[in-house]
Amino acid sequence: MLIKELNTLEPQARRLEPSPDARASSRRAVLNYTEQFLDDIDRLSAFNEYASETKQSAELDISESPIDLDNAIKIIGEHVDKPGLNPASGGHLGYIPGGGIYFSALGDYMAAVTNRYAGIRFTGPGAVALEHALVRWMAKLVGYPATAAGNLTSGGSIANLCAIVAARDASGLKAADWHRAVIYTTEHAHHCLDKAYRIAGLGEAVRRVIPMDERFRMDTAALERSVEVDRREGLRPFLVVGNAGSTDVGAIDPLDRIAEIAKQNKLWFHIDAAYGGFFILTDEGREKLRGIEKSDSVVMDPHKGLFLPYGLGTVLVRERAHLKHSHQYSAAYMQDAAGADEDSPADLSPELTKHFRGLRLWLPLKLHGIAPFRACLQEKLLLARYAYEQLMQMSGFEVLNEPELSVVAYRYVPKSGDANAFNKRIQAAVQKDGRVFISSTTIRGTVYLRLAILAFRTHLNTIQLALEILKEKVSELEGSRQ
Ligand SMILES: *Cc1c(COP(=O)(O)O)cnc(C)c1O
Repeated sequence: MLIKELNTLEPQARRLEPSPDARASSRRAVLNYTEQFLDDIDRLSAFNEYASETKQSAELDISESPIDLDNAIKIIGEHVDKPGLNPASGGHLGYIPGGGIYFSALGDYMAAVTNRYAGIRFTGPGAVALEHALVRWMAKLVGYPATAAGNLTSGGSIANLCAIVAARDASGLKAADWHRAVIYTTEHAHHCLDKAYRIAGLGEAVRRVIPMDERFRMDTAALERSVEVDRREGLRPFLVVGNAGSTDVGAIDPLDRIAEIAKQNKLWFHIDAAYGGFFILTDEGREKLRGIEKSDSVVMDPHKGLFLPYGLGTVLVRERAHLKHSHQYSAAYMQDAAGADEDSPADLSPELTKHFRGLRLWLPLKLHGIAPFRACLQEKLLLARYAYEQLMQMSGFEVLNEPELSVVAYRYVPKSGDANAFNKRIQAAVQKDGRVFISSTTIRGTVYLRLAILAFRTHLNTIQLALEILKEKVSELEGSRQ
């Protein structure tokens, strides 16, 4: 009876394993699609407008019956890869651009086929060693001592959460103290940190928003005063969060000075370098990020600064014990995995089973070496400087910041009328055009457009095109008002 049922189930279950021929033909179909995508990448729009009210295609719904691969690829092409932002495009100049370097995709492919277990050292010693090597490389870049540890996360938000939890636990504060615990940041801290505080149970902690100087960097004298006042009033200052490349304008807080203040006051110093961290590979970036090595924890996103496809952030903590203390657990069914001499990723993050995401970083670093990454980052710094200089000369435009890294905020001051509304219309017109994609932000009540330059496919011609498009849209919009 049992055997009979198994005999009918087995052939059905075996359909999950395609034959070598089926693998070859499906691989060809997928490669045709991805190769076409890459061949066309310079011609593809950076943004495709779509009607937000249109209903999601029923073709995306899951049903019992299978469809063939050509059909599936067609659905992906039409309903997934077409509408909205094309982050693989060099014309992506909004938010913080990503990229998607090719060898990462191959690394992901290999990791998915072999499906190594990268959560626990016992089961995947090689995969874990590979990830440790990456973390060690990044910790060394930052200038952390050998006591440092880290974890490859899905992105910067989770990486920041891991650091905040480590900071909370290292402070020795108990839940009953959290309403007296004080966190110091600036207005330009990324909103994922607010999320992290709340998830970490620190939603009721006191938040001090320290003023910024004219270059949008934390005013360290104000920080010092604020800590002193809070301490005098019986509060428990415990954490200061600095930006190393703010999302809004790419500003870097005075890391060196904050580190000193943190040390004197026994605060945990966390740096969010999700965007700016990898500029440390360049001489200019290294100079600007001086002091980063004195922090207690830092976050940097390879899916931003190393141009990887989405899905890779990193948290680094100066003292491994802190990260471990906050994340290590054991379970009876895991007893065989315990006792390894080196930490498993599962001891250092909320995840147990995880994507073997190290390979998508390791493979491109090994195949390219570091030099092209460094050059690409330096190119981005210079492109931002070029954009800044050009914008300064464009009639009617006003630039908010000389770029510290690779973000320039600027706006057009219209001949008459509401400037904020006008800039929103420029942004909408550029998005509708689609050749490049730009985003905006509001600084002290004023709307600014941003050029965020970090996609590895963004080069001089992209920036020249973006500036031409801006001029074109402004003249159309000004003209249409006459
Ligand atoms: C992008 C970004 C984050 C969030 O990282 P995700 O990878 O998007 O989760 C946090 N901080 C800064 C400064 C960022 O630019």
